[in-house]
Amino acid sequence: MELLKERILREATVINNDVLKLDALINHQVDPMLMQELGKEFARRFKEHSITKVITVESSGIPAAFTTALALGVPLVFARRKKTLIADPDALCERVPSFTKGIVTDIMVSRQFLTEEDSVLFIDDIIANGDAARGLIKIIERSGAKLAGVGILVEKSFQAGARTIREQGIKVESLVKISSLEDGKITFE
Ligand code: 5GP
Repeated sequence: MELLKERILREATVINNDVLKLDALINHQVDPMLMQELGKEFARRFKEHSITKVITVESSGIPAAFTTALALGVPLVFARRKKTLIADPDALCERVPSFTKGIVTDIMVSRQFLTEEDSVLFIDDIIANGDAARGLIKIIERSGAKLAGVGILVEKSFQAGARTIREQGIKVESLVKISSLEDGKITFE
């Protein structure tokens, strides 16, 4: 999506060959007008899938997931990151490694917000190795809800996450694909 590519070129910083800093438009400051356009684009790409809920992981997935849910006219559920995992019979939990923080966190979704009647669209900001996505996909599967697909703002296609999820037969739509961050240069696919 050209709009997002232009903004990334103008406002993102390459930290190293693996990490792109997107604090100016996604991870720290958020441009609501941009997010609204991105949400409409996800809604357009998944409009045939009878989505009943949009789901994401807190916190940086929330703005794009919110505008997607608004465009589709459905609720947004965000998985919460828990610091301690006290057994909760009403929660679906998964432990996921964090790409940027180098720690593991537990994510949880209350069973009451995901049911067998739901057709769920998972939206996230960036995909790298796919650990966050795999954790949330497991939660969706255990809830009995149907995963309609995955929408990602920025896919780093030189890392394996999105590819391995597509290989499971899941529809993954990325608005922008970055094939390399080598030598401080952002290369789009
Ligand atoms: P994964 O679980 O796919 O390895 O990593 C996904 C999560 O890590 C994303 O939700 C995102 O918040 C964070 N992340 C991964 N790569 C990057 C990156 O290059 N830049 C930033 N800012 N966050 C990233």
